[in-house]
Amino acid sequence: MNYPIIIIGGGASALMLASLLPNQTVLVIENNAKLGAKILVSGGGKCNITNTKMGTEYYLGDKDFIAPSLKAFNEKSLLKWLERQGLEPTLRKETQYFCQDSSKELLNILTKESKKQTIILNEKVISVDKVEGLFHIKTTKNSYTSKSVVIASGGLSFPALGASSIGYDIATHFGHSIAKTAPALVGFTVQKEQFFFKELSGVSTQVSIDIQGHICSGALLFAHKGMSGPAVLDASLYWEKGKISINFLPHFSWKSVQGSKKQISSLLSMPKRVSKAFLLQMGLEDKPYHTFTPVELEKLHTLSHYSFAPAGTFGYSKAEVTKGGVCSDEVDNRSMMSKKEEGLYFLGEVLDVTGRLGGYNFQWAFSSAYSCAKYIKGKI
Ligand SMILES: Cc1cc2nc3c(=O)[nH]c(=O)nc-3n(C[C@H](O)[C@H](O)[C@H](O)COP(=O)(O)OP(=O)(O)OC[C@H]3O[C@@H](n4cnc5c(N)ncnc54)[C@H](O)[C@@H]3O)c2cc1C
Repeated sequence: MNYPIIIIGGGASALMLASLLPNQTVLVIENNAKLGAKILVSGGGKCNITNTKMGTEYYLGDKDFIAPSLKAFNEKSLLKWLERQGLEPTLRKETQYFCQDSSKELLNILTKESKKQTIILNEKVISVDKVEGLFHIKTTKNSYTSKSVVIASGGLSFPALGASSIGYDIATHFGHSIAKTAPALVGFTVQKEQFFFKELSGVSTQVSIDIQGHICSGALLFAHKGMSGPAVLDASLYWEKGKISINFLPHFSWKSVQGSKKQISSLLSMPKRVSKAFLLQMGLEDKPYHTFTPVELEKLHTLSHYSFAPAGTFGYSKAEVTKGGVCSDEVDNRSMMSKKEEGLYFLGEVLDVTGRLGGYNFQWAFSSAYSCAKYIKGKI
C-alpha cells in the first residue's frame, strides 16, 4: 500500500500534523488501540496545553533550532487555532493553559481534524528502509511505501502508554546521531542520608530548587521512593548527577524571627511534620528560637540551602518526558526534515528538545508539526 505521506505515531505532534494537512493523503500508524494516549493522562487529566510565558529559555536543546518553530506557531497562534476549533483553554496557576474539564476536549479536536486522514491503530512499526527513492515501512501486520515519512513516535517515557525506541532506531538507521537520552520531568530517588524523606510520604511543602542556574519553584511532594511534585519534576530536566540545593523556606525570613521565644517548629513556614523530621535529622531539639546556639543556628539555616545528591530518578516508567534524542543539528529547523535523508522528518519529543514543566512539551509538539506542515504544503 502506498501513501504520499506516512506518519509514525498517533500522539500530539502526529495528530497536529495530520490536522494541518487536510488536503493531503496521509496515513497515521499508531501502535496503541487508541490515539493520543498521553494527551488523555496529561496535566492530571486536564492537559496543560501551553503557557503564557513562552520562549526558547524554557527548553533544553539548541535555541537556534527551536526558535523558528516557536515563533511561527507560538502559544498565541496555538490558542487561536484551538479557539477556531471550538476549544477555549482555561488559564490556571497564573500562566498555564489547561482544557476546561478534560484532556478529551483537546484530543477530540485533534482527532476530529485528523480523521479526514487514514488512521491505522494496533500496528507497531518495526522498521523503515529506503529502496530506490521510496521508504518501505514494516509493521507487525503490514508493509507500506511512501515518499515521505514523519517520525512522530515520541520518546521512551511511559512505555505503558505505547512509548518505544523506534524513532531513535530509524534515525540511527539513516545515519543520525542521538544525544544521550534520560528520563526527565520525573521524581528523584534518594540516598541513605535522605531516607527520612520516605517517612514523610504524602506530605507536600513549598520549595525553590537551584539547579545549574535555573530556579524551579513550587510544591515538593515527599514520596515513598524519595521526592516528587512540580518543583522536583521541573528541576529533573537540568539534573546530570551530583548535588542539588533546595530552599525549604522560600517565603521565610530568618531576620523576622530573630529573638523569638516561640518553638522553632511553629515558626518555620513548612508543615510541622516536615520541620520535626528535619530537626531530628540534624540532631536539633524543637525549642524556642532564641535558645539556639550559633552552631545550632548554622545547622538550622541549611534549611534555606539544603544541598544533597539524589540517588537517581524514578525512571522512564514515571517520567513525563525523555530528554536527549535525535540531534537537532542534523535536522532542518524550518521543515523538520532530516539533513541526511530527503523525505524523512522528525517531530516532537523524539528530537533533542525538551521543555520545562508547564505545557512546553505539547507546545513544542505542535510548533514542530506546524513547521513541517507549512513546508510540506509549500512543496506540494
Ligand atoms: C503522565 C504524563 C503527563 C504529561 N503532561 C503534560 C502536560 O500537561 N503538558 C505538556 O506539555 N506535556 C505533558 N507531557 C508530555 C507530553 O505528553 C509529550 O511531550 C508529548 O505527548 C510528545 O508528543 P509526541 O507527538 O512527540 O509524542 P507522543 O505524544 O508520545 O506520541 C507518540 C506516539 O507514537 C506511538 N508509537 C511509539 N512507538 C511506535 C511504533 N513502533 N509504532 C507505532 N506507533 C508508535 C505511541 O504509542 C504514541 O501514541 C506529559 C507526559 C506524560 C507521560
